[in-house]
Amino acid sequence: MQARPILAVGSIALDQVETPQGNRQDILGGSAMYFAVAASLFAPVRLVGVVGSDYPEEGWQLFRSNGVDTRDVQQADGHTFRWGGRYSADLSTRETLYTHLGVFESFQPSLCEQNKSTEIVYLANIQPSLQLAICTQATGAQNIISDTMNLWIDLNREELDLVLQKTNIFLINDEEAAQLTGLNDPQDAAEWLLAAGPTAVVIKQGSQGALLATGNLRRYIPVYPYAEVIDPTGAGDSFAGGLIGHIASQKETDLVAAVINGAATASYTVEGFGLEGLLQATTESIHRRGITIQSLME
Ligand code: AMP
Repeated sequence: MQARPILAVGSIALDQVETPQGNRQDILGGSAMYFAVAASLFAPVRLVGVVGSDYPEEGWQLFRSNGVDTRDVQQADGHTFRWGGRYSADLSTRETLYTHLGVFESFQPSLCEQNKSTEIVYLANIQPSLQLAICTQATGAQNIISDTMNLWIDLNREELDLVLQKTNIFLINDEEAAQLTGLNDPQDAAEWLLAAGPTAVVIKQGSQGALLATGNLRRYIPVYPYAEVIDPTGAGDSFAGGLIGHIASQKETDLVAAVINGAATASYTVEGFGLEGLLQATTESIHRRGITIQSLME
């Protein structure tokens, strides 16, 4: 089957990361960038976002080399979104050093006709108001998958609740799920989230794997255990890329297989700084890691 296209909105960023293994400044990143590079291994990606006048040619080049459709990526006067993060010694937690929205502050997405009709839509981590603007314009959307982050749970709770109501599959990490629902146990948080709108919820638990909850199914899916973690930045977005890429490339949706593909994809991202690890991955190598993960579940 020919893979169906995925429409994705999210941040396109220049990141600063500090990990025990070293520091990097002004590297390509953003939720939409990680997602696009990961998902384009499986399906065509149509990206929506904005960059500033300072955005490097290297970023555009990366979109081109991955076949990402950027007709709805605007370039505006001003600064590209910038985010800085510092990881703890065991890499299990991170602190945000700064979030500078730059041109995202005044971004007004306007989808072209082709993109409005896309059936699979990913609302990556970005202001919930922008996620909602895409929901309104993407009139052909049949399967909306979304993600968010602590900043938006703190600042834009009401809009985030509206996003949840429109979402079919909700992806969130365990700390943010606890913050959003007030429930520390991921199983309890998943029940709460399922009652808020989505038909499926995936709670990502870092090195502990992910909990998939849909209908009567509750399933833990482990991580690929042999990855050497250098920089976890973008793991969540490339997990989404592998998961949604799987859905877009298969005739029948198998959410367990899709989550396994997400976990296998994310295992590459953590193996290098920024996008370095993910760029080593191929569809075949991800598939092989998926088989390893699957064998751990038997
Ligand atoms: P992840 O590690 O999967 O949570 O994604 C990290 C990426 O998300 C980085 O490349 C950042 O540029 C981007 N990011 C960080 N904070 C935000 C935010 N509040 N909204 C949108 N994107 C963000």
